[in-house]
Amino acid sequence: MIPLSEAREHVLSRVEPLTPRRVALDQVLGLVLAEPVHAHDSIPGFTNTAMDGYAVRACDTAGAPVELAVVGAIAAGDDGDLAIGAGQAARIMTGAPLPEGADAVVKVESTRRLDESADRVRVEESVEPGNHIRYPGEDVTAGERVLAAGLAVTPGRVGLLASVGAYEVAVHPRPRVGVLSTGDELLDSAVPLRRGQIRDTNRRILLSLVQQAGFEGVDLGIARDDPAEIERAFRAGAAGCDAVLSSGGVSMGDYDYVKVVLDRIGDMRWMQIAIKPAKPFAFGVVDGIPVLGLPGNPVSSMVSFELLAKPALRSMAGFADAEVGPNLVKAVCGDDIHHSDGKTHYVRCAARRDSSGVLHVSSAGGQGSHQLAAMTRADALAVIPDGAAVRRGDLVEAILLNTGI
Ligand code: AMP
Ligand code: MG
Repeated sequence: MIPLSEAREHVLSRVEPLTPRRVALDQVLGLVLAEPVHAHDSIPGFTNTAMDGYAVRACDTAGAPVELAVVGAIAAGDDGDLAIGAGQAARIMTGAPLPEGADAVVKVESTRRLDESADRVRVEESVEPGNHIRYPGEDVTAGERVLAAGLAVTPGRVGLLASVGAYEVAVHPRPRVGVLSTGDELLDSAVPLRRGQIRDTNRRILLSLVQQAGFEGVDLGIARDDPAEIERAFRAGAAGCDAVLSSGGVSMGDYDYVKVVLDRIGDMRWMQIAIKPAKPFAFGVVDGIPVLGLPGNPVSSMVSFELLAKPALRSMAGFADAEVGPNLVKAVCGDDIHHSDGKTHYVRCAARRDSSGVLHVSSAGGQGSHQLAAMTRADALAVIPDGAAVRRGDLVEAILLNTGI
């Protein structure tokens, strides 16, 4: 058996961020920038008002209340080609450019109109120069790098890109991930099962995990335990995807042809990792595409995805934190746990936060790698190292499973 860190390093050293592409702004949410983005112009690009009110010369308001002559109105979007002089004001709306001669804005709530035609206003507040004014470059200065390469695009960043006119940006494309199930026992329909059959759950799970992680899942179907069919499926996956995930056929069974086929058509490493569940794992390259062979038991395939496939796919998507990931937290363990079998255990746990926000985890039930129902009650995997006697109340590391806790 090898430590998980060795398996992960093996995988991460053999996958690369996908070749950047220029992608339209409406398609970049969640993708990673491959180039820095610079602002051509300052934002704001012109002096403007932060409030609806009157543009004034601050010195004219010194003896407030005062009366000023209203010389015009400026709306957002106007070019603001207006000037005010001593004793004058201009009606102005939020975002509109400040007129020549004005150096402050009095908010409308501090003013009163004096006649129907609105050409005189009573200003009831004295203001300092700069009051309610937004100056050029307060948000972004011209030439500034607004986003660095390697950042993931969030909703706010989509807006920032739009604000600097970057309607097409260089990003690492979203990995297309083929998902393949293998096994003669698998059925993908609601018809009654005959003895020996089970329904294919892994492909549904893995396609969902791929999608939840922000990647594009490609359904490669079920390959029977037949070498020709398995080869066809892997080759089709390699031809149409950036990576292929298969489940099943990587352990020690007589009909585990996945191993035979992949050894023939790919450059593979078969691993036994010192973890429970998800001990068997394979990584290799088929027709230039990374192939990850996950174990067949549903819980094992999920844990294998979390610990190995997701970091690999995140790395291909350009994320810098691929190895550790954002989901590793500390939690108070609610159970006594001890084992010494040479493996690190990933214990399926329900999690809750107490009133001070501290995370507590405790076993979600059956820990068998075939017990998917218990896995679905888990919000986290508690990481219990070999030989560590964890006592109720001890702090442990845990991996959050994106259940919203
Ligand atoms: P294998 O590694 O192919 O021997 O599979 C190990 C166990 O996982 C067996 O009990 C399989 O029936 C089960 N298994 C394999 N693939 C799937 C799948 N796609 N969905 C549900 N169970 C599976
Ligand atoms: Mg099988």
